[in-house]
Amino acid sequence: MRKLNHISIYAFTVRAIHSQIAIIGGGTAGLNVSAQLVRDGHFIPQQIRIFEPYKMHAYQTGWTMVGGGMCKVQQTMKPMEKVLPKNVCLSDCPVVRIDPEQNTIITMDGQKYTYDQLVVASGVQRDYASIKGALQYLENPEAPVGSIYYYRYAQKIDKMIKEFEGGKLIFSEPLTKCEGIPSNMVFLTHERLSARGVKCDFHVYKANDTIFGIPKYSEILGELAHEKGLHCHLKKRLIEVQDHKVIFEDVETKQLFTSDYDFLHIVPPQKPAAFIADSGLGDSDGYVNIHPNTLQHVRYSNVWALGDCSSLPTSKTAAAVMAQTPVLIKNLIRTWRLKQSPLPEYQGYTSCPIYTSNKKVLLAEFKYNKQLDETFPVFQSSDSKAMYLLKKHFFPFAYWQLMVRGLWGGRDGIRLFKGI
Ligand SMILES: Cc1cc2nc3c(=O)[nH]c(=O)nc-3n(C[C@H](O)[C@H](O)[C@H](O)COP(=O)(O)OP(=O)(O)OC[C@H]3O[C@@H](n4cnc5c(N)ncnc54)[C@H](O)[C@@H]3O)c2cc1C
Repeated sequence: MRKLNHISIYAFTVRAIHSQIAIIGGGTAGLNVSAQLVRDGHFIPQQIRIFEPYKMHAYQTGWTMVGGGMCKVQQTMKPMEKVLPKNVCLSDCPVVRIDPEQNTIITMDGQKYTYDQLVVASGVQRDYASIKGALQYLENPEAPVGSIYYYRYAQKIDKMIKEFEGGKLIFSEPLTKCEGIPSNMVFLTHERLSARGVKCDFHVYKANDTIFGIPKYSEILGELAHEKGLHCHLKKRLIEVQDHKVIFEDVETKQLFTSDYDFLHIVPPQKPAAFIADSGLGDSDGYVNIHPNTLQHVRYSNVWALGDCSSLPTSKTAAAVMAQTPVLIKNLIRTWRLKQSPLPEYQGYTSCPIYTSNKKVLLAEFKYNKQLDETFPVFQSSDSKAMYLLKKHFFPFAYWQLMVRGLWGGRDGIRLFKGI
């Protein structure tokens, strides 16, 4: 038998890995920020670290078209390494904690990372589980329950529409940060079923107290719903899904009532990732608490946020991200490199293109305080074919061909960097 003469004890310490820029989330916002930082020559890719556990990047906007039978789910996903800027550092373990006092990030495997500047772009989580029974029926291929907010359930909705033979359709919406997205599914489903001559009874239940938060668009959508014979019920929140039966709660009186259904579309409640609040970066709802015009964190000057996870009081859309990105980058460079104050340049711009049929789109564009901020007013007095062409054909092209290369400035068009 071999004898051990001595035992060496090795002390393992986990060394923190440093990056100048840390970006949490490789979704639309994280990708857009990293692409523009590299494109504009502010950083070499190796100075940027992106934390993103998913292998595929999703163009979530396309899931409406998947549910509406207008594109395949494969057209809405690309491998992360194909879309992120070449040579950025990628950590594929989810972030579980940030210590903003020590400029430190900790991932689920216990690895520590440090940063000079942090951009939080972790989106929102879709909380189907908060509606009793929802996941069970969404996962059951035989149950007529779907949702465009997750690609598999969007594929299911498309199949449900194709196979639907008539009856009562229910579309539920919680209090949401973008009221335009759910309306897409109502109108697209109506269009497809009408074209097949299927007899339908459409009911939309919204927890919000208006059809759309901006009076002009609320009126247009209300008229269209009336013309198409859709019934709209406000201040009603879905709380339980059963077999062909749903339970709603009146948001004000808290009274419960039930309805039967033959087709159910669910918009899930959405919430920010828990690590934001756990790290002391959240507002009272857990969103990253940033200044609404500069995008800088209210307490930590080297922490920034944009997109769905941010506290910005505007509709959460990819279009909003396109308007937020240049402001965030400018202010990050100004404060860190030039030692100047951030500029309050973001005024809440957002945009919701809403399919009102499979030929027309209503393009809603607005900013803070419900003010209209329209780019093509002549086409935005109602739904239009021109906006349809923009949404169906041009926006996906701009996303995959221009945005991922840092070349897309949203409504400013193709970006030519002019300095900060
Ligand atoms: C069905 C649907 C239709 C839509 N239609 C439109 C539209 O027509 N027009 C429009 O402008 N917008 C639309 N949107 C909204 C748009 O997709 C979002 O606003 C946009 O994706 C937000 O970008 P984001 O980067 O903030 O979040 P996301 O794109 O969701 O990215 C967040 C990323 O963070 C990652 N992440 C989360 N937690 C962690 C963690 N702990 N550690 C590391 N990474 C983490 C996630 O994996 C994810 O990849 C639509 C959305 C949906 C769902």
